[in-house]
Amino acid sequence: MRFPLLFFITVFTLQACQPSTQSVSEQTQAAADGADAEQVSNSDSFYYSNDYHSFANPEQVLVTHLDWDVTVDFDARKLQAVAHLQYEKVDPAATTLIVDTRALQVSKIEANDQQLDFTLAEPDENLGTALHISLPEQGSVVSIHYSTSPDASGVQWLTPEQTASKTSPFLFTQAQAIHARSFIPIQDSPGVRITYSATVRTPENLLAVMSARNEPDTARDGVYEFTMPQPIPSYLIALAVGNLEFKAMGERTGVYAEPPLLDAAAKEFEDTEAMLIATENKYGAYAWERYDLLILPPSFPFGGMENPRLSFITPTVIAGDKSLVALIAHELAHSWSGNTVTNATWRDLWLNEGFTTYLTYRIMEMIYGEDRYRMEAVLGMQDLQQDLQTLSAGDQIMAIDLRGRDADDVFSNIPYEKGALFLRDLEQTVGREAFDQFLLEYFDAFAFKSITTDQFLDYLQQTLAAQYPDKVDMQRIEQWILKPGLPANVPVVESDAFSSIDHQRQQFLQGEIRAADIKVGNWTYHQWNYFLRGLPESLSIDQMSALDSAFNLTQVSNNEIAHTWLLLAIQKQYQPAYERLYNYLTGIGRNKLVRPLYAELAKTEQGKAFAKRAFEEAKSGYHPLTIKANQDFVN
Ligand SMILES: [Zn+2]
Repeated sequence: MRFPLLFFITVFTLQACQPSTQSVSEQTQAAADGADAEQVSNSDSFYYSNDYHSFANPEQVLVTHLDWDVTVDFDARKLQAVAHLQYEKVDPAATTLIVDTRALQVSKIEANDQQLDFTLAEPDENLGTALHISLPEQGSVVSIHYSTSPDASGVQWLTPEQTASKTSPFLFTQAQAIHARSFIPIQDSPGVRITYSATVRTPENLLAVMSARNEPDTARDGVYEFTMPQPIPSYLIALAVGNLEFKAMGERTGVYAEPPLLDAAAKEFEDTEAMLIATENKYGAYAWERYDLLILPPSFPFGGMENPRLSFITPTVIAGDKSLVALIAHELAHSWSGNTVTNATWRDLWLNEGFTTYLTYRIMEMIYGEDRYRMEAVLGMQDLQQDLQTLSAGDQIMAIDLRGRDADDVFSNIPYEKGALFLRDLEQTVGREAFDQFLLEYFDAFAFKSITTDQFLDYLQQTLAAQYPDKVDMQRIEQWILKPGLPANVPVVESDAFSSIDHQRQQFLQGEIRAADIKVGNWTYHQWNYFLRGLPESLSIDQMSALDSAFNLTQVSNNEIAHTWLLLAIQKQYQPAYERLYNYLTGIGRNKLVRPLYAELAKTEQGKAFAKRAFEEAKSGYHPLTIKANQDFVN
């Protein structure tokens, strides 16, 4: 997923056991996470690990396949569904299957034409509700009949007015981290992998797409069949329904979007096929057949979501100049790291996002060259430094202790940028060629498995550390993963494209040159962002005004540059930008872009009143996650 979303909500924990493995880090790990020594049995088929964010009992009864029959009811804003769960008894004596739910109305549960007893436990604010199902003596499938709540945390229902084409309603799901349970009763842990099939019934004129095999030329008849033959964690199950059309970008790549966005999206992301080929040449064959993009309405709360075979993408990155396509490289990279090799619990997210962020940089370098890579790496380092200045010591640890916390608390630049920097450090230690070989073998060794930080450390010790005992320092590696901050002498990337910007910014600030004399030439998004981020607190309103007159920054169309400018405008209370600010906040629901603006506005009474007005108007179009992440700023 891209990009961080920070919630600060305290909740209960459960299940205080983690699988114990013989690891170099065992002691520190136990200290960091309170692990006891209880050994959890593993299924033959898929590895899983108990996690603190699921009520499920896969160590006793493991769900292996979902057959989902779902009717999309736009009027009632509900999914009416039957989830047929195929399971195997890991413990032959087990009599109960426990799955996760959140705000589901369960009407009946059946197996072998016979109704089963079930109980829904008391809801937990954070984790939802455990559903206990009494299993029959014989059989391997239970069928759960249920409907979702209109405000399900993982489903967004949009009216026609909230879409690009304005003609039809739109629905999309977002399951990461633990929101699959709000639309499917399931063992909602990334350590449990399942295959799935689905029948989706929609209004006849709409198209349904899923994180599964999609046929680009399927008939639009209101009934759509899907299969996902590879085992995936539940957070990668995804559905979208809307007035969607398809356009091919390459042999294996294409884009689904509402008609008004289709051509612009296909043009913006036309390098996707080249990215796919470059990545598989380096890190092994693409494992998922097709790679398509789905462009969502502007309310999508994230940059992108790596739903397998079909990444969900915010339209805010259609900039017209490919300046923001690192997002596509990122979601594509998840096809190797994250979707194929998955974090077993949310504590281990860095294994997913850190590797993906590292691969993103490498893909951008392969496709667009070293200069582009350097600029993106410097900006990424700035993001990391900012989080290191503001996050608590505990939250700066890559293998974060999430007990008692919302799973979404894991999202910050720590698993992403610190994770990537750690891998860059390893790369520099052993050399690029050896490190690429290591990655190739790592992705292969753990393909379609969910692994813990401990398992990664074991693997690293047996491979790179054994191969390069004089170079790879396991103590330093544990410092990276289990300690806050950064180790000494981390890799530093510099960009020539930025050094002249520093010089010109300085000249402007000291009054040596006028704003209009700053030689911006064909500055890209990266250069503008670097320039604006580097403006000091002492910047005057007159200087802002001069920059605005010279470069029309208040009206800039690139959403990232606009974000940085508007943040500055709030800090400086630069009134000419407030109308744009209002339109920005009410037109976009991507949390990374709106949240810092709401947070900054909330620092003054006047700003808070403004934020409140914008939030009230925008709310009906915001995703539940964006509402949750921002409502404290306006209350
Ligand atoms: Zn990601």
